[in-house]
Amino acid sequence: MKMIIDKFLHDQQVGSRSEIHDLIKQRRIQMDGQKVKSFKLSVNPQVNHVTVDGQLISGQQDYYYVLNKPAGVITATKDTHNKTVMDLINEPDRRDDLFPVGRLDKDTTGVLLIMNDGKLSHQLVSPKQHAEKIYHAELTANLSEDDLRQLIDGVTLKDGTFVQADGADMISSQPPVVELAIHEGKYHQIKRMIGYLGQKVVRLNRVSFAGINVSGLNPGEYRELTEQELSSIK
Ligand code: URA
Repeated sequence: MKMIIDKFLHDQQVGSRSEIHDLIKQRRIQMDGQKVKSFKLSVNPQVNHVTVDGQLISGQQDYYYVLNKPAGVITATKDTHNKTVMDLINEPDRRDDLFPVGRLDKDTTGVLLIMNDGKLSHQLVSPKQHAEKIYHAELTANLSEDDLRQLIDGVTLKDGTFVQADGADMISSQPPVVELAIHEGKYHQIKRMIGYLGQKVVRLNRVSFAGINVSGLNPGEYRELTEQELSSIK
């Protein structure tokens, strides 16, 4: 993504706009080995090497957000027919780099991480290091103690996949709501686990992903992760 060099250097906290203009006038900034003479020079931080007094200014800045996904939007970066979760992220300068981590169904609500850090995203969804996800699923009827035990012991879905919950508890009986903690992230996993018990999910909300929640955010709202949250997932 291209931008004007003084904006790039300002974003990288090299100095105020006027300090950056002074550095340019003093010819202390170079791009790809050439002295920069204009603050309007276009730079692509992914491609160009920019130095100040010989010191490389890395353009590889990572951004991390958490969205309270509303129902009715799909988890994708682009779609011709449906509104996507990315349409809710109002970061025009960063929009093209960002993507959702994992996937929630169109009708599922709750915690969805959005970032541009491919390595961390991969770690969070990789089968080896699957992060814990906690869901609240509203059902058509209460689950029995036996049902809850089965979910924890593990069930084999119709396609032969064996899945297990780390925890399963009824947290409300009217309406019936089960809290399920899982580490895996198989396609429609919660709905299929509940379907295995002969029940149906009426509403599904992810309340936590890798310890991150969306308390204080209305559906459709998002915020940057705090330093503390970031260090807890990295
Ligand atoms: N399990 C589901 O069935 N759907 C989701 O969106 C997430 C987990």
